[in-house]
Amino acid sequence: MRLLVVGGGITGLAAAWEAVRGAEGRPPAEVLLVEASDRLGGKLHTEATEGLLVEHGPDSFVGYRPAALALADEVGLTGEVIGTSGARVVSLRSRGRLRPLPAGMGMVLPTRLGPFVTTGILSPADKLRAGLDLVLPRRLREGQDVAIGAFLRARLGGGIVRRFADPMIGGIYGASVDELSLDAVLPSLRADEAAHRSLMLAALAAGRAARTGRGPGSPFRTFRGGMGALVAALGRSLAEAGVDVRLGTSVAQLRPAGDGARAVLDDGSVEEVDAVVLAGGVASSSALLGESAPAAAAALAGVPLATSVVVTLAYAADAFPRPVDTHGWLEAGAAPVSGVTVSSAKWEARAPEGTVLIRAFVPQRLGDIVHAPDGVLVDRVSGHVGAVLGARRPPELTRVARWPALMPMYTVGHLDRVAAAERGLAHLPAWRVAGSALRGVGVPDCVADGRRQAALALQVASGAPGR
Ligand SMILES: Cc1cc2nc3c(=O)[nH]c(=O)nc-3n(C[C@H](O)[C@H](O)[C@H](O)COP(=O)(O)OP(=O)(O)OC[C@H]3O[C@@H](n4cnc5c(N)ncnc54)[C@H](O)[C@@H]3O)c2cc1C
Repeated sequence: MRLLVVGGGITGLAAAWEAVRGAEGRPPAEVLLVEASDRLGGKLHTEATEGLLVEHGPDSFVGYRPAALALADEVGLTGEVIGTSGARVVSLRSRGRLRPLPAGMGMVLPTRLGPFVTTGILSPADKLRAGLDLVLPRRLREGQDVAIGAFLRARLGGGIVRRFADPMIGGIYGASVDELSLDAVLPSLRADEAAHRSLMLAALAAGRAARTGRGPGSPFRTFRGGMGALVAALGRSLAEAGVDVRLGTSVAQLRPAGDGARAVLDDGSVEEVDAVVLAGGVASSSALLGESAPAAAAALAGVPLATSVVVTLAYAADAFPRPVDTHGWLEAGAAPVSGVTVSSAKWEARAPEGTVLIRAFVPQRLGDIVHAPDGVLVDRVSGHVGAVLGARRPPELTRVARWPALMPMYTVGHLDRVAAAERGLAHLPAWRVAGSALRGVGVPDCVADGRRQAALALQVASGAPGR
């Protein structure tokens, strides 16, 4: 079996690894991995410079979805996995001040009542309005997706949406909660309402159950050498396993050939394969499927894409009046950033002693600033961060990483688009679309999807039952 993987981001790398490794009942496949840029990793991009580890894309992943940790284990990185340093000190900047997130606060809802009742992030009126959720009847209708924002506002009021849900969920998904799909992004809320009626009661019950099991602590993990360590280890493992990796090469065209495909690369070469995993992102997959699977291409093109920018700032520690030991904060009010991570406090080995390394996230939903030239972006972001932390001097090193129209947004109706893409590819069962466009944007989701789609494509191509 010969598999073509389009794209060498984390999804494509995981797909190639799954295929070349084989599994019980599935022999290792021959793999051709084609990556348009001159490096592997896609959005995973760690730059080591002047003793700093600068993450241009993701800086971590959640450990409770096991796929990334399992992959790390298989490529020999288990000893390199790290959790956050020290106590978890995360704040929300609300009404002009940094305020600690109440203990036990989840993405939207409190899992402990005491800290929620006493937090200064919400006004007394907001807290009372949130309490109304305890008595409101169920609101969701089966089979009808809604925006997360509208649902939460109706149950818990605008305060929770403005101060918690939008900064937290919007921060992760790069879009406003008023656009994001409940069923694609937070299906657990639907299940909670169905089971408990009140979201508050459901969250408090989940908190009680969790406290009897694992202790608190951050779920985030990364590698001592940054996310790039995973890319490097996968690259080595793929090379050792004989995967044909072509950097600086694009798949320009894909046509059905027998039960497989014929791919034309932009260097003019033509490759015949038995199966394909398209892991180049929404725009790439949609373009490659345009002629052979137009309905799938149209469904993929319907996934809106957001632009985002990561601005990194490195300061001398003595530029600040006090040690900068917070892990960072989310913005719940007007600001040129949606969130700030103090990487040097949050993770070990990100910056030498005496340097404060900060990364700030500028999503498209903040408006035109996302398109501002680098100098303007750095001035606005460092002006804001410097004012919050009291910096007396400007940063000594700055970086701007742009991700233009590259973040898929799971807006209302997303699961219908996923279903339409799958239906539109049904006549080409050995061609599979994988990655953040469809079934999860997090690194563990992409790893799991890459592996699953590679396994499915090869299963079909080899004529094995079970699809
Ligand atoms: C700024 C930012 C911060 C993030 N933070 C986090 C985080 O902290 N935690 C987390 O879990 N997730 C995070 N994410 C999300 C996560 O990083 C992405 O969803 C994930 O990395 C996507 O991986 P991918 O392989 O599917 O796509 P990509 O990384 O986009 O890779 C696609 C690759 O395909 C190549 N390609 C495209 N078309 C072709 C073609 N025709 N031929 C050959 N090659 C092609 C591209 O060059 C690219 O390298 C973040 C994303 C961004 C942008």
